[in-house]
Amino acid sequence: MCGIVGYVGPKQAYGYLIEGLFRLEYRGYDSAGIALQNGNQIGIRKKTGRVSQLAEICKQDPIKGSTGIGHTRWATHGEPSDVNSHPHTGGNGEVVLVHNGVIENYSILRDRLRELGYVFHTATDTEVAAHLVAHQLKESLKQGADPGDQQTYVRAVESTIKQIKGTYGLAVLFRDVPGLLIATRLGSPLVVGIGRGEYFLASDASPLVGNTEEIVYLNDHETAVITANSFVLRRQDGTEPTMSIRALEQTTQDTDLGEYEHYMLKEIFEQPQTIENALRGRMDDDEATAKFGGLNLDPQTLRRIDRIVLTACGTSWHAGLVGEYLIEEFARIPVEVEYASELRYRNPPMSDRTMIFAITQSGETADTLAAMRECKRKGHPTLAICNTVGSTIAREADGGIYLHAGPEIGVASTKAFTSQVTVLTLLALLLGRMRHLSHPEGKRIISQLRAMPEKIRQTLKCFDKVKEVARKYYTAENFLYLGRLYNFPVALEGALKLKEISYIHAEGYPAAEMKHGPIALVDENTPSVFVAPRCEIYPKVMSNLEEVKARKGPVIAIACDGDDKIAHLADDVIFVPDVDEHLQPLVTSIPLQLLAYQIAILRGCNVDRPRNLAKSVTVE
Ligand code: GLU
Repeated sequence: MCGIVGYVGPKQAYGYLIEGLFRLEYRGYDSAGIALQNGNQIGIRKKTGRVSQLAEICKQDPIKGSTGIGHTRWATHGEPSDVNSHPHTGGNGEVVLVHNGVIENYSILRDRLRELGYVFHTATDTEVAAHLVAHQLKESLKQGADPGDQQTYVRAVESTIKQIKGTYGLAVLFRDVPGLLIATRLGSPLVVGIGRGEYFLASDASPLVGNTEEIVYLNDHETAVITANSFVLRRQDGTEPTMSIRALEQTTQDTDLGEYEHYMLKEIFEQPQTIENALRGRMDDDEATAKFGGLNLDPQTLRRIDRIVLTACGTSWHAGLVGEYLIEEFARIPVEVEYASELRYRNPPMSDRTMIFAITQSGETADTLAAMRECKRKGHPTLAICNTVGSTIAREADGGIYLHAGPEIGVASTKAFTSQVTVLTLLALLLGRMRHLSHPEGKRIISQLRAMPEKIRQTLKCFDKVKEVARKYYTAENFLYLGRLYNFPVALEGALKLKEISYIHAEGYPAAEMKHGPIALVDENTPSVFVAPRCEIYPKVMSNLEEVKARKGPVIAIACDGDDKIAHLADDVIFVPDVDEHLQPLVTSIPLQLLAYQIAILRGCNVDRPRNLAKSVTVE
């Protein structure tokens, strides 16, 4: 995880760097730091805590320079502390760098460098890279390399990354070469913004908004050599890289909080719009099916598919579970939902007719990327369902479907989840209509989908009721979330939301499974949230609810408008509009997002920056 920024140009770099770090803070917020180069001096400021704390120390003790790098950290090696914060220096301060990723062989490299006399001051893996660059530079200068030649410094970085095992996005400054910034990546994202006589570097496009309109995503094994008037790409294997310049599509509005207090709340309330965006142009009324521009698979290949693997992590994995139920129901194709972190190392048998979908909001999730690459290596058509345009997964997949949900900044995913479910519903419709689903059934699903943004708007009106429920239960230390069929993944997702932002222990379960274990947790202090809209097995869910009530467990029900029966049984009911059973996750997940939000607020938690988490998990 973590965010990196960099600048080379005629202006003072501080403004871009600090603003960029604020925009990237959702990626990591253990600590932050910047380095600015002024002639042959590099000034460093770094601090545990938030970017605002870094800004404060920079105000008290300013540094200057028109070349610089910055970092907001999500610690993997070494506790969050001032000394472990990036940037790190190598040698005697002749190299300064920031790093995103994990250097897996750091301890071997550190021992070797210690023997050579390098002194380590931090507990990070990153410091190894700083000393190694300094060492490579020293060795090549000893052998007669020209200290006035930029290539000498590029080679020092390139020979360092050859020795590193693991993942990295690195941005490197050299004390003795003012105005040179070298950036390189393997597994961690980096993007360069092209300005007039200036260049910007960032982990994702958000810091670039308002500064440039042209961007270049670095690919793995590429190194960018940047000065104020030149930007050259090199590939580690010596082959010629093709630099593809893209237009930056984001606007500042996308990342403004507007009238909301938190990004999470803003993103929850954006869902009528984001679901509409996910649907736009993708429903074919005549054929009663769905269409996607970017799948890049002909109908014959799609028809031949005999198995689908959906791979993802966290919330995206829950969306995948809804997708499994939908695709199996509509298209009768067997589907498995695999944790990407497991799939990347497992070797499940897959026929050549197996299609892989990687589901990811950021398009940078390290485990999902690795799982996708593993499947690609084996020759399977590998597609992505992804939000971030131009992200690594979007670029490396054979094809895919964008969510068009706009940037999601709140660390707890909300609008991305419902957009993923929307897209998976369309995918199930497309595959279904190629196989078993009738024209009238297809038409019915389309008309239900079309009504969905309005249904979500109505659902959001439950916020007042949610606030009331939150006030009653926010001190509880354990919660159960229970649902069946399409609402089982919703129960998992509801429990995850509560854990993530309010630090309350919560378990999601299929409601009937409860009696095989978790019912032992039920007592008068443990609320159970039943996701119980009308469905095929509604009476069975009611029996499960009675079982909890019989054991004095308080029950909060998510139920369809007008469900009087449940209103008599449950302690509290949050009503949602009645929709087709297959589409229920889109509405039932929303009160659970709001409930987690409101409970976190009442407990005084930092909703947008929950402890120990970061938005896109770009480390293993
Ligand atoms: N592994 C490095 C550290 O722990 C970088 C972590 C990050 O990507 O923020 O400092």
